[in-house]
Amino acid sequence: MLPLKEKDKPIIRKLLSSGCCARCVLRFCCVTLQAAYRKPPQDTLRELRAFVHDAENGETRESAEGNGETPDAAAAAEPAGDPPSKRAKLERVGTGAAEEEEEEDAAVEPKEEEPSVCVSCLGVLQELCGPTHAVKIAERVKAEKYEFDTLLLSVSLPAQLCVREHSCWLHVKKEMREKSLAVDKDDLVQVKETFKWVMQGAVAQELGGVPVVIRSLFEVGVEFTHPETDADCHFLATACASCFKSNRNKRSVFTRMAVVKALEKISDAVFLKHYSSPPAAPTSSCSTENIQCLHLAIFVAGRYNKFSRSLPQTPWVIDGERRMESSVEELIAAPVLSSFRADGFNFSSSGREDVDVRTLGNGRPFAMELLDPHRTKLSHVEMKQLQEVVFITHSQSIIIIISFPS
Ligand SMILES: [Zn+2]
Repeated sequence: MLPLKEKDKPIIRKLLSSGCCARCVLRFCCVTLQAAYRKPPQDTLRELRAFVHDAENGETRESAEGNGETPDAAAAAEPAGDPPSKRAKLERVGTGAAEEEEEEDAAVEPKEEEPSVCVSCLGVLQELCGPTHAVKIAERVKAEKYEFDTLLLSVSLPAQLCVREHSCWLHVKKEMREKSLAVDKDDLVQVKETFKWVMQGAVAQELGGVPVVIRSLFEVGVEFTHPETDADCHFLATACASCFKSNRNKRSVFTRMAVVKALEKISDAVFLKHYSSPPAAPTSSCSTENIQCLHLAIFVAGRYNKFSRSLPQTPWVIDGERRMESSVEELIAAPVLSSFRADGFNFSSSGREDVDVRTLGNGRPFAMELLDPHRTKLSHVEMKQLQEVVFITHSQSIIIIISFPS
């Protein structure tokens, strides 16, 4: 059973008829029970419809439901054969506030089928939030061959989802006001949260049970984009110009943060003047081509000796011209980088010596920051081997990594 209350019924009816998916309806009903979102969306939709159905006359009318009919419509003595899709279309055409005031309950029947693409989440909580997508994410992670004990799943959503959610919320709010019920937008469950509630477990399962947690050195970022509706945000640039400052580092001025700020600033009337409520139906779901894996940097520390009098500590380049063939930094970094399969490094040492100065005794301490390492743990034996590789390969320069604590 879904944890829904009597007051949710008008919200459910209104949103289903607007083209919202079952999970988005739960979000707008402020359902925080995670298990409710993990059910197959079709089952949730069926439960929502039954819940609304029972609400109106306290009896089940399976035959009417099969025809796309609800007790609501029956009560209003609508023709029984009126297709629900036609009604939904008529309803969406009338987006003006005055027209909406005159809407009868019968005109906001729930749709019988899950909408092809949800007007609010643009598909993020539909097909893209299920086993097939979990497999896709897991395959991408496996292909990168990272070693990790835990995983953090992060989600990036297109900024226009905020506009669409706001539009749906205004649609519901109006209804609530008419029925004197209070709804707070802050209580809505976020798309991002919902996605994680469903997908964390599914991805973990695909990866053999590795814990998907909220803090981890290894992050898998799923970026959703939806070019078809990118223009949804554009009206905000004129409606709230101060919120959108051009920033060279950003791909677009319409960042999620700027859009949220603008939506807080502009009045409902201004919003409704520029944007339809509920939002227009999209033709396609979000794209999820961009799945990025990233391991936070790890650090390796050690000491080095240098017995050569012709080896600089770091690459010696003057006016773009290289003066010496190699350097302490490069000779140590290459094998370390390949052992940890890292994408880059930063080398720091405790002080430095001139090119013709040797480093004797216990050696000079150094530390390496390894960027995006695909391996993070080397056994004691592997560490020893790594020291030997540095030593043997560069014996002419004679660099020895004396200690290499893991
Ligand atoms: Zn949705």
